[in-house]
Amino acid sequence: MAKLLKGAPVAEALTSGLSVRVRKLRERGIVPTLVILRVGEQEAGQSYERAAKKACAAAGVETFSVVLPENSPREAVLHAVRSINSEPGVHGALLLRPMPDAETERAACRELSPAKDVDGICPASLASVFTGGSEGFAPCTARAVMELLDYYAVPLSGSRAGVIGRSLVVGKPLTMLLGARDATVTLCHSKTRGLAEICRASDIVVCAVGRAGLIGADCFAPGQVVIDVGTNVTPEGLRGDADFEAAQQLAAAVTPVPGGIGRITSAILALHTVEAAERA
Ligand code: NAP
Repeated sequence: MAKLLKGAPVAEALTSGLSVRVRKLRERGIVPTLVILRVGEQEAGQSYERAAKKACAAAGVETFSVVLPENSPREAVLHAVRSINSEPGVHGALLLRPMPDAETERAACRELSPAKDVDGICPASLASVFTGGSEGFAPCTARAVMELLDYYAVPLSGSRAGVIGRSLVVGKPLTMLLGARDATVTLCHSKTRGLAEICRASDIVVCAVGRAGLIGADCFAPGQVVIDVGTNVTPEGLRGDADFEAAQQLAAAVTPVPGGIGRITSAILALHTVEAAERA
C-alpha cells in the first residue's frame, strides 16, 4: 500500500515558519496584505478565495476582496489592477481566474506589477521561472508540488518525472522547477503518444489534467511517487486526476485529493505575500 503524502503537514510547516517573519514585519509597521480581485461570481474561484483567506489568516497575513460585477468593461478591470499596483499597503494580489472575458484576463495578467504577482501569472514572473530570475513569483501550485516533494524528501536530482498537463499554471512552470533541480522531465499533454509507457518509466508522475480518474493503473509502477494536482467536482465529491485506488496499490506514495496539493497552494500564497512585503 502506497504511503499517503498529505498536504497538511507541509502547509503547517510553511505557515509556522512564517509567523516569526510576519511578527518582524509588523514590528516595523508593515502588515503583509493580500488583495483578491474577483470579477463576477466565479464559483470555482471562490473556493480558492476561501482557502486563501484561511491560509493567510493562519499566517497573520491580512486579506480583503475587491469584487467587480460580471459584466465589467475591460477598462474597469484594468483600473482595479492599476489601483492595486499603486497601493503601498497591498503587497500581493490574487486575480481569480477564469475571468468572464478571456482577453480581459490576459490584459489584467499583463498589467499586474510583478512585485505583487504572488500567484505567478504575469509575463515577468513566468519569465523568471524559465530563466531562474528573481522578478515576481512562481505560480503557487507549481511551487506547492516542489515543497511537497522536498518535505517528503523525494530525491529529484537524476530522477525521471512525467508531468501530465502543460498549462502555465501548473505543468509548464513545474517542468522548469523540476529541471532546475536536475530532474529529467517529460511534459505530456492531450496529443502525447504512449502516455502510460512514459508514466510507468517515471520515478515521479504529476497529474495536472482536470479529468477525474483519467490517469489509471496502466500509468503506475512500483517505487513511484504520484502527485495528483487535479481537483474535479464529481457526483461522488472532489476527485483527483489519478485513479487513487490504483495508485495506492501500485505506487510507493501518492497525494490524496482533497487534502494534498490544494492545501499547500494556499499556504504558498501566504508565503509569497510575506516575501513580497519583505522585498517591498
Ligand atoms: P488546463 O489549463 O485545462 O490544462 C489541462 C492540460 O491537460 C492541458 O495541457 C491538456 O493538454 C492536458 N490534457 C487534457 N486531456 C488530456 C489527456 N487525455 N491526456 C493527457 N493530457 C491531457 O488545466 P490546469 O489549469 O492546469 O488544471 C489542471 C487540474 O489541476 C484541474 O483539475 C485543476 O482544477 C487543478 N488545479 C489544482 C490546483 C490546486 O491548487 N490543487 C491549482 C490549479 C489547478 P493540451 O494542452 O494538449 O490541451
